[in-house]
Amino acid sequence: ELKDNTIIIVFGASGDLAKKKTLPALFGLFRQGFLPRDTHIVGYARTKMDQAEFEKRATSNIKGADDPETANQIEAFKQRLSYVSGGYEDGESFDKLNAHLQEIESHYQSKECNRIFYLALPPTVFIPVSQHIKEHCYVSKGGVNRIIIEKPFGKDLESARHLLSSVKQYWTEDETFRIDHYLGKEMVKNLLVLRFANVALGACWDKNYISNVQITFKEPFGTEGRGGYFDEFGMIRDVIQNHLLQVLTILTMERPVSFAAEDIRDEKVKVLRSIPPVEKEDCLLGQYVSANGKPGYLDDNTVPPNSVCPTYAATTLWIHNPRWEGVPFILKAGKALNEAKVEVRIQFKDVTQGIFKDIARNELVIRIQPSEAVYLKMNAKTPGLYTRAIPTEMDLTYKRRFTEAKIPEAYESLILDTLRGDHSNFVRHDELDYAWKIFTPILHWIDGKNGQRPKPSPYPYGSRGPKELDGFIKKYGYKRADDAYFWPVTNMA
Ligand code: NAP
Ligand code: NAP
Repeated sequence: ELKDNTIIIVFGASGDLAKKKTLPALFGLFRQGFLPRDTHIVGYARTKMDQAEFEKRATSNIKGADDPETANQIEAFKQRLSYVSGGYEDGESFDKLNAHLQEIESHYQSKECNRIFYLALPPTVFIPVSQHIKEHCYVSKGGVNRIIIEKPFGKDLESARHLLSSVKQYWTEDETFRIDHYLGKEMVKNLLVLRFANVALGACWDKNYISNVQITFKEPFGTEGRGGYFDEFGMIRDVIQNHLLQVLTILTMERPVSFAAEDIRDEKVKVLRSIPPVEKEDCLLGQYVSANGKPGYLDDNTVPPNSVCPTYAATTLWIHNPRWEGVPFILKAGKALNEAKVEVRIQFKDVTQGIFKDIARNELVIRIQPSEAVYLKMNAKTPGLYTRAIPTEMDLTYKRRFTEAKIPEAYESLILDTLRGDHSNFVRHDELDYAWKIFTPILHWIDGKNGQRPKPSPYPYGSRGPKELDGFIKKYGYKRADDAYFWPVTNMA
């Protein structure tokens, strides 16, 4: 763990990610006393900004700034900030940055200094920046250097390999922290505990008891003017191939020997290797169209006319190992839908027929966001003088159960892991390679690499997705208990 003498350098400090996530997360850690004692934060980008402008930008997304205590902490945080403007492709700019870092370090008491480089940059400059940092800003005597990078890690297997191997020329695996911010989410981390700290859950965690699994990401808004970036990627690359697949691996891997990073990542890689590439038949694509006064995807000016980019995708994956053979894992994600939610829904098999007929199946739902919860839908006797089963739930709603707890932001937890040198919640290079192998063929088909591009099915803005969705899920054995289950609104978390 890094104790002191640490500088965190945020590249692309003028950008969206830095403002919305990285800098507020650094403030969150600072406020809670988790940053090493003398930590300095240096912003770097081409945009010219003076100290006051950078301070303003860096603190503009901090919540609760009108509270006097928070305001004091923000003032103290500003003392740690500084900004250097420079390019990404020329060595001289990095020499200038290095001189600034050395000036800060000259005030440190001991000689040993640590530098954490956070690339909040578009992928087009990942390679030159990682090279220049290594050549111009790397501390070689004592101390550690670490580099943090974020998706997109390429667009397919080939480009991902190119990116990874280029960065690897300069940075070892041990120094590299590849963020998939879903791995920093509280409920994703909770999966390990739910699975391996509960005999009762562990016992039914396989093909004998589970019929099908859905991992769902739903967003209630469209691209709204940011479609240019999205159109090059589409829903599978944006959410499914990385975030939802990461959730799937933790949900299905075998028990790791320990919580050590390599033990966990070894198990994740093993399940990934058991998943064959997604077939066309196991894929449903959609694109939202205008409805209820909301614009369609093609109405976004930044989207190329007639784009067939999917804004909704459902893909079913199969795991060929003894635990999971035959269980469909439906990964689905979409924009401009009826609600905001990310959840895992495990549907168990029917109870043996005989004494009960047509009763609802058990479902274990792990809601990752919003309002974290774990609930098991189960049947109970209708209260009163009947012997009839009705679907109810055993419910763990975090807000209600842990009233005092503050759930950390994913980025706070991941930056802290980087400071501690813990790789468990970061993506190893071979995980990425296997993840791309699963999705590259279907992505090439969608991109029209071997023929005509498939046309996504239209769905109205604000709906649950394409009309084919319910049939698609049913095909894999999902049984919806129609309106038998209801959740009293007063219970709403
Ligand atoms: P961004 O705002 O577009 O870019 C960050 C900064 O990079 C810009 O302020 C700009 O700074 C510089 N830049 C932009 N385009 C450039 C180009 N073509 N060549 C060189 N420099 C350029 O991006 P972002 O949203 O912060 O995202 C940064 C990275 O995190 C991306 O890889 C993104 O995919 C990933 N990410 C973002 C989010 C998010 O919430 N935004 C979430 C997950 C992952 P200067 O012009 O001042 O140099
Ligand atoms: P649900 O919202 O009824 O969804 C169950 C499944 O059915 C999802 O896979 C959903 O697909 C699908 N679905 C939804 N509407 C459909 C329709 N009209 N036709 C066909 N399929 C449909 O979820 P639930 O687990 O049964 O819970 C019901 C409500 O109770 C939810 O609002 C839930 O948040 C609430 N609840 C909350 C808690 C808690 O906060 N602790 C506990 C229990 C229940 P998509 O996901 O693709 O839409």
